[in-house]
Amino acid sequence: MDEGVHMHIPPDHPRAESLRIRHKLIEGFKKGIVAQAGLIAHGRGEAFDYLLGEKTTDNAMKAMKAAIAALLLSKHPVISVNGNTAALVPEYVVELSKETNAKIEVNLFYRSKEREVAIKEVLLEAGADEVLGVGERASATIPELSSLRRKVDPDGILIADTVLVPLEDGDRTEALRKMGKNVIAIDLNPLSRTARYATITIVDNIVRCMPKMVELAREMKGMERDELRGILDDFDNGKNLAEALDHIIRRLGELSRKFEKEKILGEGL
Ligand code: ATP
Repeated sequence: MDEGVHMHIPPDHPRAESLRIRHKLIEGFKKGIVAQAGLIAHGRGEAFDYLLGEKTTDNAMKAMKAAIAALLLSKHPVISVNGNTAALVPEYVVELSKETNAKIEVNLFYRSKEREVAIKEVLLEAGADEVLGVGERASATIPELSSLRRKVDPDGILIADTVLVPLEDGDRTEALRKMGKNVIAIDLNPLSRTARYATITIVDNIVRCMPKMVELAREMKGMERDELRGILDDFDNGKNLAEALDHIIRRLGELSRKFEKEKILGEGL
């Protein structure tokens, strides 16, 4: 049976939300938006989300505030979009770009004309005025990168001072940092190379944090530049990642004691 089309998710299923997100990705895959490897990457993300408790942490909120401050302070902010991002949160990408005056650029590891165009269409349908990085537009090159992600738009990522890269790969984050750009990553895995190379890492699920980032942008865009600069200067990504790991450690410690003492089999976490 084709579970993508016929899958019925009972609303009271204990993991209904997680199944709905998977379903969106499967549909995205069928439409040529999501790459095969994107489905696997999602699975890795889900595993870390389980460890985090599938909730936005205080530490992720702090990173989001710093990220919005960085986007609002930047001259050329760009939101880089891949297949999973386009399948899961296209409307929030568009809203965030409008609230922060950021450009939207399609950037793919597995680049194909069809996929680029399909992603652009999704973003236009979600209300984007302009989508960079598609076809001939991706004519500039990021040095030192061998994957097709090296191809960027001369009006977008090439000249950007800050790039928001949800679900990035480590190599490109490193290359963008070497080009002197601020990189904001959204990655559920605090151990990934992306998480460690980024300037600001938001350890949260993209489906939870993008709506929150739009809200924050609305609240923060009236702030003075000095105040935004203060928020950014107070942020330390090493400390932020350490807090994300401590959160997981603490949580697993509590669960381990709970497993030992009580009969919790069959209960949710
Ligand atoms: P790196 O190269 O950075 O060490 P990687 O090899 O895991 O990491 P990818 O295979 O590109 O990189 O995986 C993408 C990352 O995206 C994974 O680390 C995964 O945790 C994360 N991820 C997947 N889905 C989501 C999601 N919905 N929200 C946030 N992060 C996600």
